[in-house]
This record gives sequence, C-alpha cells and structure tokens, in this order.
Amino acid sequence: MDSNLNNLKDYEFNFSEVIEYAKKHKVSIVGIQLPEGLRRMQNVLAERVKCELGCEVIISTEPCVGACDIADEEFLNLGADILLHFGHSKIPCLSKTSLPVFYIECRSNMDVENVVNDSLNKFVNGEKVGILTTVQHVHKVNEISNILSKGKLTPIVSKGDCRIAYPAQVLGCNFSTAREEIKNGADSFLFVGSGYFHPLGVAISTKRKVIVADPYSNEVKEIDGVNNEIVNKIMRQRFGAIAKAKDAKSFAILVGTKKGQSRLGCALELKRMIEKHSFQVFLYSVGRIEPEYLRYYNEDAIVSTLCPRVAIDDFSRFNKPILTPIELQILLEEKDWNEFAFDEII
Ligand code: SF4
Repeated sequence: MDSNLNNLKDYEFNFSEVIEYAKKHKVSIVGIQLPEGLRRMQNVLAERVKCELGCEVIISTEPCVGACDIADEEFLNLGADILLHFGHSKIPCLSKTSLPVFYIECRSNMDVENVVNDSLNKFVNGEKVGILTTVQHVHKVNEISNILSKGKLTPIVSKGDCRIAYPAQVLGCNFSTAREEIKNGADSFLFVGSGYFHPLGVAISTKRKVIVADPYSNEVKEIDGVNNEIVNKIMRQRFGAIAKAKDAKSFAILVGTKKGQSRLGCALELKRMIEKHSFQVFLYSVGRIEPEYLRYYNEDAIVSTLCPRVAIDDFSRFNKPILTPIELQILLEEKDWNEFAFDEII
C-alpha cells in the first residue's frame, strides 16, 4: 500500500495497477467515483492520479452505493477517457459500459483469524458450513476455509450467478452464492463481515442458520433464519408495510435508471398484475429515491424495483408504504406470506 494513502490504513489496493490501466488508455481526463466511506481520501487519490498521469481529474459528487451505480454516462458526457470506480467489485453481467471503467476494490486488511476461530463453537463437528463474505474480505476465503477445516467442519465455497464476481461473495441484492452452497451441501453459513443486511437476507431467504463473524468488532452472532429477534423485527416491519398498503387503490412503480438497478421487465409484470386487480398504476423512472420526490406522487402505495435495500433500510424515511415486488405479490394474494423473502436482483 502506498504511504501517501495511509489514511486508508484498513484497506489495501494496488495503485500501480490503476496507473498502468490509465496509461494504456492515453488519458487526458479521468473520472473518479467513490462510495461515502472513501470520500475522505478523494483529494489524495485525485492528486496522485493527476501527478502520475499529467491529466485532469474530475471527482463525482453523486452518492455511489455500489457497482450497480456506475457513473460511466455522467463521465462520458464530461468528455472523460476512463472512469476509476473505487470500493466495489465489478458486477460481471454489467460489463458493457459507455467508457472504460477500472474497478479498485479496496480489500480490508482486518485480521479474520481470531473472530473465525471464535465462531467455531457455534457449529457441530462435521457440519457443512457455506462461507459467505463481502468483496472486502474475499481474499481471506482460503484462510477462513482452513480454519473451519482445522476446527473439524467442512467448508463449502461456491460462486453465485452473473452478478457475483468471486466465490463466497454476496451482495445486498443477491444471495445466489448461498443457494449454490446449499446445492453443494451446506447445512448452515458463516458470514464474515460487518452489518446485518447480508446475513439477514441469507437467513430469511434460505431459512438456515447464519453465524456472523465481524472482524471489525470481533463479535460473533447467530441469526437463525426461522426464529430470531432481528429476523422477527424485520418481518414485523415488512408485515407492517404490507398492512399499511392494504387499502391502496393506486400504486406507483419505481423503475431504476441506474444500470445495475434497472428492472423494467419486472416493473411491467407488476404493472400488469396490479391492472388485473383493477387498481390504478403508473410507472416512474428514478435514479435515487428521496422522500421529497414522493410529494408529487398521488398514489397510495409505492412499489420499488430499485435496490432492494431501499424498502427495507429506508422505510421509516417515507410516509407512504414502500413495497418490494414480492411484497406486492403478497398484498395482492398472488403469493402466500410463507413465501416472503428479501427482494433480489438476479
Ligand atoms: S442494487 Fe443495492 S445491494 Fe445491489 S449492488 Fe446495488 S447498492 Fe448494493
């Protein structure tokens, strides 16, 4: 890691690869896109790119939530030659971009050994454990696997669908890796990382036990996919959203304009379903949904086909019920409540 970048001491990335890539493209303008967590480094990074390449650098101010949210069009319009996208792995099925994009993943150098060792007693001897993590820790998957094997467990590592770049990786909108690991024999899961959204989604979708080993807090927690305080809290919240939409006679369906959140096919199917039930429905395009935008919506309930996290993480910011596609199906009795799962983009 470069010494000038030591404010990023918890992360590792290979800056010489970035420069090599940029040089190949003979750049005069380079765009930089970063998630909020790396914003504090934007000037150091821009300065380094500018000095190494002798080019102009433009930093995107728009919030960047994932690799689903590539600012290629924005920078093409500005005349940039390439875009450097920091903090996320590429979503392989979104490889077609309007200008060359280089993904700088920023791997975490947090030690996982202690917390994974601490998690071993949550499993029984011989248990087949699917390993799951986020891109920040995918380079530690072999190490995690070895620790599980030494602990007399059978590690299972699989790769999910075309939104997933690495074996064992999960996204907040895609748990296909967990399903693959079940196909390959996993009885339960070990999620290495921080935050609850990913392991919760896996637990609810697979109805299996997920042990969370958080290398930042060194805490080990269990999420039981069937009966768990956090799972129950989320289920109550989602049930509340569906109940609030019970008397809705009109619906707004949001269609994402961000490349990796765009599900027009799904939105059209939902529209037809709503029409079949003789309710009014309009489609709205949107890049990022903010509560103030809803002021102009006259509909009683909103159905979001954008990032699945919007309805779940941000529900309290909106005064109208926001449902995911599967929740709309439950509301219209096209699906049973037992079929509830976190929305996924697959
Ligand atoms: S759609 Fe949401 S969960 Fe999926 S990659 Fe984008 S920000 Fe992450």
